[in-house]
Amino acid sequence: MYAVFNQPPPLEPCDPFAGDAALREAVARENAGWAAPELAAFGALLGQADTIRLGFDANRNPPQLRAFDRYGRRIDEVEFHPAWHRLMAIGMAAGLHSAPWAAPRAGAHVARAAGCYMMAQIESGICCPIAMTYGAVPTLRQADALATEWLPRIFARDYDPRCRPAAEKTAVLIGMAMTENQGGSDLRTNTARAEPDPGAGPGIYRLHGHKWFMSAPMCDAFLVLAQARGGPSCFFVPRWTPDGRRNAIHLQRLKDKLGNRSNASSEVEFADAHAELVGEEGRGIPTIIAMSNYTRLDCAIGSAGLMRQAVAQAIHHAAHRTAFQKKLVDHGLMANVLADLALEQEAATVLALRLARAYDETDTAAAVWRRVITPAAKFWICKRAPALAAEAMEVLGGNGYVEESVLPRIFRELPVNSIWEGSGNIMCLDVLRALDRMADAAALLRDELAEGARADARLAGLVARLERRLADRAGADETQARAFTRELVLALQATLLLRHAPSVVAEAFCASRLSGEAAGVFGMLPPGTALRPIIERAALAAG
Ligand SMILES: Cc1cc2nc3c(=O)[nH]c(=O)nc-3n(C[C@H](O)[C@H](O)[C@H](O)COP(=O)(O)OP(=O)(O)OC[C@H]3O[C@@H](n4cnc5c(N)ncnc54)[C@H](O)[C@@H]3O)c2cc1C
Repeated sequence: MYAVFNQPPPLEPCDPFAGDAALREAVARENAGWAAPELAAFGALLGQADTIRLGFDANRNPPQLRAFDRYGRRIDEVEFHPAWHRLMAIGMAAGLHSAPWAAPRAGAHVARAAGCYMMAQIESGICCPIAMTYGAVPTLRQADALATEWLPRIFARDYDPRCRPAAEKTAVLIGMAMTENQGGSDLRTNTARAEPDPGAGPGIYRLHGHKWFMSAPMCDAFLVLAQARGGPSCFFVPRWTPDGRRNAIHLQRLKDKLGNRSNASSEVEFADAHAELVGEEGRGIPTIIAMSNYTRLDCAIGSAGLMRQAVAQAIHHAAHRTAFQKKLVDHGLMANVLADLALEQEAATVLALRLARAYDETDTAAAVWRRVITPAAKFWICKRAPALAAEAMEVLGGNGYVEESVLPRIFRELPVNSIWEGSGNIMCLDVLRALDRMADAAALLRDELAEGARADARLAGLVARLERRLADRAGADETQARAFTRELVLALQATLLLRHAPSVVAEAFCASRLSGEAAGVFGMLPPGTALRPIIERAALAAG
C-alpha cells in the first residue's frame, strides 16, 4: 500500500477575515470598524469546507444557454449549477450587491469592499453580477420612475433567480452592455440604435442591435449603450416588458472563456426591444461610465482578494512541505519569494480599501481618489495579480498546476479584471485625462504623498519625480502613461504602508519597489530584508 506523506493538509476550514491582519486593520482604519462582527461571521461562513467546495462545483459545471424551449419558442435563459445559486445567495445575503446604497453610513463602501475581497477568494464568478448591480444604482437614480420601481428590489438581500417580471420577484440584478463587435474601448463606434417608440410615452424607445459581450445575461435588466438621434445614449432594458412579455433580448451564444467559467458571458441581439432612456439623449457615455467607476473599483478589490488567497495558499504549502531536510518556508530563497508575494498583496489590500473609502466620502480629496486613483489602482493591481498568482502556483510545485488546488482557477480568473471595464492602456490614459480635467487633482496628490516622502528618502526621490511630472504635465505624454501610473500607484502604496503597516513591511516595500527599476520577478528582495515576520503576518492557518 502506498503511503502519502509530506503533503500539506488542506487549508480548510479557514477564516479569511480573522486570518487576514492587513484586511482587519484596513477595515478599522477606513471607518468600517462597526462592520467587523458581520464581516467576521461572513468570513467564517466563506471559509467552511462546504462553501469552498461550491466554488469548485460552480466552475466544473459552467452555465448552459437555453435559447429555446422544447417547442422552438425563444426563452433566452441560462441554466446554472446549484452551487452557483448557493454562492449568489451567500453574496446577496451579505449585501455585496447593494448594502452601501440601502443603508448608507460612513464606511459602508469599505465594509462592502471587504466582503467582496473575501467572496472573490472563494469564487470570483459571482462578483460580476454583484458588481454590476452595485454600480448600476447611481445611474438608475438619474431616472426617478425607474429608481422608485427597481431600487427596493435591488436593496433586498434575497436571491431570486427566477426568470419572471421584476414585479413578481423579491430581488433583482442589473447587468450592463456596452461592448460591440467592432469596439469596446472606443464606445463612440457603437452601432446599436434606439428610436422613440411612437405613442408609448416620453423616454420609451425601441432598441435594435448587437452586443459582443454582455455578462450575467440572467440579470433582470441591463443598462445598454445605443445610438439615439442625439448621439450615444444610455437605456434601461428589462428582461420583461411592462405588459408582461419576454423582452426581445436574444442570447445568441455564451463565450467559451479562459476563466470566470462559473459566470455566463453572452453575445446578444436586441431585436426591437423595449428600452427606457436613462439621463439625456447624447449623454449616454458619461451616464453609463458612472457605473464603470464602481465596477473598476471592484476589479481592484477582486484582484486583491484573489491575490490574498494565492499568497495564503503558497505560505500554507511552504510551511508544511519539506524538501532537502527543511520546510520550504525555511529555505532562504523560498522565504524571499514568499515575503515578496506577501508585500505585493498587502500593498494591493491597503490601496484597494483606502480607495473604497473615497466612495464613502464627499469632499474634493475623495473625488480625486475616485476619479484619478480608481483607474490607476485597477491598472496596477490587476496587472500585478496574474504574475503573483503564477509565482504562488510555483510555490506549490506540481500540486499548484493541478485543478484540485485552487491556484489554476485563480490564475485563469485574474486577467479578466485587467481587460474588462477598461483595459490597461485605457486605464492609464484615463488617469492622464482625469489629471488634466480636475483642477485640484495634482495639488491634492502632492499633499497626499508629501507625508510619505518626509518619512522615507527613497520615496522622496520617487515623489520628486512624480511632482515634476504633475507640475509640468510631462505625465500627459501618452507613451509614458503606464510608467507614470505605475509610479503614482507605487508612491501611494508606499505612503500607505509607511503610515499604517508594520515597519518591516513598509521598509521591505520601499527597499524593493522604489528604485525605479521595472517590477519584475518575485523573490528579489534585497539582502537583510526581515523575511520571516513578513511571512508570518501573511500566513493563514487552517481551523
Ligand atoms: C469575460 C468578459 C466579460 C465581459 N463582459 C462585458 C459586459 O458585461 N458588458 C460589456 O459591455 N462588456 C463586457 N466585456 C467587454 C470588455 O469590457 C471589453 O472587451 C474591453 O472593454 C475591451 O474592449 P475590446 O475587447 O473591444 O478591445 P479594444 O477596444 O479593441 O482594445 C484592444 C486593446 O487595445 C487597447 N487600446 C484601445 N484603445 C487604445 C488607445 N487609444 N491607446 C492605446 N491602447 C488602446 C486596449 O487597452 C486593449 O488592450 C467583457 C469582456 C470579457 C473578456
